[in-house]
Amino acid sequence: MATSSSFSSIIDKYRPDLGPYEELYKHCHANGELSTQEKETAALITSRLQQISSDFDIRTDIGGHGQIAVLDNGPGQTILLRADIDALPIKEKTGLPYASTKMMRDTDGIKKPVMHACGHDFHITSLLGAAETLVAARSTWSGRIVFLFQPAEERGSGARAMVDDGLYDGGKHACPIPDVVLGQHVFPLPAGTTATRPGPIMSAADSFKITIYGSGGHGSMPHRTIDPVVIASHVVVRLQTIVSREVPPDEIAVVTVGALQAGSTENVISDEAVLKINIRTVSAVWRDRILASVKRIVKAECLAGNCPKEPTFEATSSFPLTINDRKVAETINRSFTQYFGDRHDPEMANVLGSEDFGILASAIDRPYCFWFFGGHEKSKHDEMVRRGEEDSLPVNHSPYFAPVIQPTLTTGVDALVVAALTYLGKEEEEEDWEDWEDCQVD
Ligand SMILES: [Zn+2]
Ligand SMILES: [Zn+2]
Repeated sequence: MATSSSFSSIIDKYRPDLGPYEELYKHCHANGELSTQEKETAALITSRLQQISSDFDIRTDIGGHGQIAVLDNGPGQTILLRADIDALPIKEKTGLPYASTKMMRDTDGIKKPVMHACGHDFHITSLLGAAETLVAARSTWSGRIVFLFQPAEERGSGARAMVDDGLYDGGKHACPIPDVVLGQHVFPLPAGTTATRPGPIMSAADSFKITIYGSGGHGSMPHRTIDPVVIASHVVVRLQTIVSREVPPDEIAVVTVGALQAGSTENVISDEAVLKINIRTVSAVWRDRILASVKRIVKAECLAGNCPKEPTFEATSSFPLTINDRKVAETINRSFTQYFGDRHDPEMANVLGSEDFGILASAIDRPYCFWFFGGHEKSKHDEMVRRGEEDSLPVNHSPYFAPVIQPTLTTGVDALVVAALTYLGKEEEEEDWEDWEDCQVD
């Protein structure tokens, strides 16, 4: 394993000028693509990888627009470094000179604004920058690295699609089975900082579309109808009691009704109502219990409202819990603390966002660690914290989410390089002092 001084000396020596990567970042930011449609982004990544080294074994079109570049550099362990590449259907309001004005037809046929509001543009550029650094520094490490670029993270489907497309099936995409899987995410922490924790780090997220069936009719004759709006309203209020009355106060959980749709005019009682629900949990036990509670409440309210038909539940997305392997996270914590010093937080609080990253490891029963790196300008962040207003700093998925390019990008590159060297770095050749002393005596 490399030591802190060797992390710094290797990075100082081999990390390229990141100016071109800042330009690449701006380009990616202004040209994001929606989940499952990341065609141009994927092609751009492939061409950058080809420019960096002809030694990469590049395999494209895995589970949609996913790809891997494998760098074989002698005996040792195999690690996988992952970046997700998709953007979101959000209209950017940052006012940045490189803000996105892009529009794109989504898979539902609707034209939508596109924004890299989750910072996946930083993930792409950081992993490419780390790849160039590690290629240049190949005399300092030994082993194999899989650089993996994953589509459709925002839908929770991309990692599963890559695995199901035979990512790890010998032959098809030739992806070696990694010993450890590593990934990172830009986050509303001060730029230049990193953070992770052993054990559970991100929540599970389950989304459902629920349809409540009523019986429509004239707004003047409610007694001749079953009004799904009234029933759905009871459901929304009653769902609030799950977290407040069923879940223990020291357990983290969220139940959000993100959409409630019914009817289209004043004088018609609708015949159905649709609710879109998002559930976040941090333990498998409470995930199961809360899912069961939601179903119980919806069914019971439909029964109470005399619905003509049972409600239907359609799972729209599902993200697993992200649970960092303790040993891997402790190893990463040691290296990051060595390299970043007090800019690394080894015991960050659990994050109520979700990721499908873990599937790339759990599918082959390998350990993983996921960490965060900050994107907020430090002075602004500290000022907001001082004023107790940090909650108004724009977070991921906000139309105002605008991480500063530096030192965010450098931190993203360095974190990946330090993590890779942690597993693949060659032992430093230290002088044996005792032998030296013996020599002197002789
Ligand atoms: Zn996101
Ligand atoms: Zn994200």
